[in-house]
Amino acid sequence: MALYTKVDQEACIACGLCQMLAPELFTYDEAGIASFKPDQNTGSLPLDDYAKIDFKLAYTRCPTGAIKRSDKPFPQK
Ligand code: SF4
Repeated sequence: MALYTKVDQEACIACGLCQMLAPELFTYDEAGIASFKPDQNTGSLPLDDYAKIDFKLAYTRCPTGAIKRSDKPFPQK
């Protein structure tokens, strides 16, 4: 099943956990707010199978639920 993700940056508290758990997938802006690196947080690029393991770690441990997931691309603005 395809898996897409993006960070709800309003909900991110800049704790750094997702980047520690999945450094290939998450990056930060100057304020420490996270984003999904492979698609610039647009939620438009499906995760590769190998990336799903690290993604699930970050997804389940994010303290605020800011990391969103979907089986479809997120709507583009
Ligand atoms: S784990 Fe969640 S709250 Fe922490 S930086 Fe990542 S997205 Fe933000």
